[in-house]
Amino acid sequence: MARLAVERSHVLAAAALAGVLASCAAGPQTPPVTGPVTPPVVQQPPAETGPISYKPSGNKEMDAWRTDFSARALAAGHDRTVVESFLGNISPIGLWLGSEVQAAATGVGDQAEFAKPIWDYLKVPMGNSRVSTGSAKLQELAGLFDSIEATYGVDRQAVAAIWGMETSFGAVIGNFDAPNTLANMAVEGRRRGLAESELLTLMKVVERGDAKREHLISGWAGAMGQTQFMPSTYLAYAVDFDGDGEKDVWNSTADALASAANYLSSSGYAKGQPWGLEVNVPPNFDYSLADGQDRRLETWTAVGVAPVGGGPFETNGADFAELWLPAGAEGPKYLLFHNFSVFKKYNNADSYAFAVGMSGEAFLGKAGPMTPWPTHIQPLTVADIKLLQAGLNSRGYDAGTVDGIAGRRTKTALQGFQKDNGLVADGYPTKAMLSAVTGQGSSSVAAATVD
Ligand code: CA
Repeated sequence: MARLAVERSHVLAAAALAGVLASCAAGPQTPPVTGPVTPPVVQQPPAETGPISYKPSGNKEMDAWRTDFSARALAAGHDRTVVESFLGNISPIGLWLGSEVQAAATGVGDQAEFAKPIWDYLKVPMGNSRVSTGSAKLQELAGLFDSIEATYGVDRQAVAAIWGMETSFGAVIGNFDAPNTLANMAVEGRRRGLAESELLTLMKVVERGDAKREHLISGWAGAMGQTQFMPSTYLAYAVDFDGDGEKDVWNSTADALASAANYLSSSGYAKGQPWGLEVNVPPNFDYSLADGQDRRLETWTAVGVAPVGGGPFETNGADFAELWLPAGAEGPKYLLFHNFSVFKKYNNADSYAFAVGMSGEAFLGKAGPMTPWPTHIQPLTVADIKLLQAGLNSRGYDAGTVDGIAGRRTKTALQGFQKDNGLVADGYPTKAMLSAVTGQGSSSVAAATVD
C-alpha cells in the first residue's frame, strides 16, 4: 500500500509541476518535464535505517537542504516511508527558485503602482458573479449549512464568504504539490523556519491518516484545499464532517466548510452578532476616535454615532466596537465588532475581513454600503505613500517602516498630524495630506498647517 501511494504521488506531483514548469523559463537547474508523464523507475527497496538516498533534484542547493532536512525528519521520529514520499520527487519551482523570485522579493516597490482603494479591492468579492454564486450555494447546500451552524455556531454566510474569497467556492484550489511547494519555500530561504515546520506538520497529518499523500495539493504558498489551510491550521482544525474517515478539505465540501467553521468557532466567533455595522456620525465629529480602540456601544451612542438606517443598534449582545473609516471621513463608516477580528485570524488584513463580512451579507441580499464610496478621491501611488510615511516619521509621527502600505500605524500617525494641525483627523492618505505633511504645494490644507 505504501509503495503504491508513493508511486501515485510521483505521478501526481509530476503532473502538478508540469503546468507550473511549462510557464516558467527553463533554466539549467530545471529538470525536463515534457510530454506524457512516465512512471518512476522502480528502485531497490530503501534500507531500513540510515539516511535515505535520493535521486538528484536538479538543484544542488535543494539536494543539500534535502539531505539535512531528511535526516532531521527521521531523527524527529517521522515515518521513513512518509519522509521519502514527501522528499523523493521534489524539484525546483520557478516561482520560488527561478528569476521570478527577484520580482516577488521587491514586492510593492513599483513606482507606477497605485495603492488600491477599498472600493477597488471589493470589486471581485462584491461582484455579480461572486454574489450570485454565493447566494446559490447557500440555497443548494442549505442542509449542510444547517448542520454546520448547529455544530459549530458559525453563521452560514461567514463560512460561505470565506469559501468564496479563498477558492471561488472550491473552483480554484491550486495545482501544486504541497510538500514540493514547502520544500521550495524552505530552500529559497526567507521563510525556511516556517516552511520546515509546516512540512513536518504535514508529515504528521499523513502519519495520522487524516489525509492521503496524493491529496496534498496546494496553492503556490502551501495553503491547501477549498478553504486554503496551511498544514498547521489543518492539523489543529480540520474535521471529517461527512464521516468517511478522511479530513478531505480538497474533495469534500462538507469537510472543507466544517473545517473552516471549526477554525472560526475556535477563534471565538459569536453566532448572530454583527461583524460590523455601517453608521452615521454628527457634523464636526472628532474622527480621531477612529483610533482602533474598542469602546462600549453606549459610548459611541453618547458621541452621536448611530446606525446608518436609523433606529437603535441591534447587536445581539455584542457590546464593544471600534470605529473604522475604510475610505476616510467622506466614505462609509463602520463600527467593527468582535467577529471582524475573528475573520482577521484567517487573513490579517482589514480589507480581507471587510470583504468577508460584506460579501457574506450580499449573499443574503443585504448589499452595502448605503453611503457611496468617495471614488473621486485619487489614490496615492505606492511611492507617494512612502513619501507620506517618511514625512510623518521625520515630523515625529511614528508611521513605522517606510513600505508604501498605508496600514493602521500609518493611519494613526497621520491622524496625529491632522489633529495637531486642526485638520479632519480621519487618517486617510490623500494628495492633499501628502502635500500638507511633506510641505510641498501651496494648497489651503498646507497653509492650515502653519501656526
Ligand atoms: Ca471526510
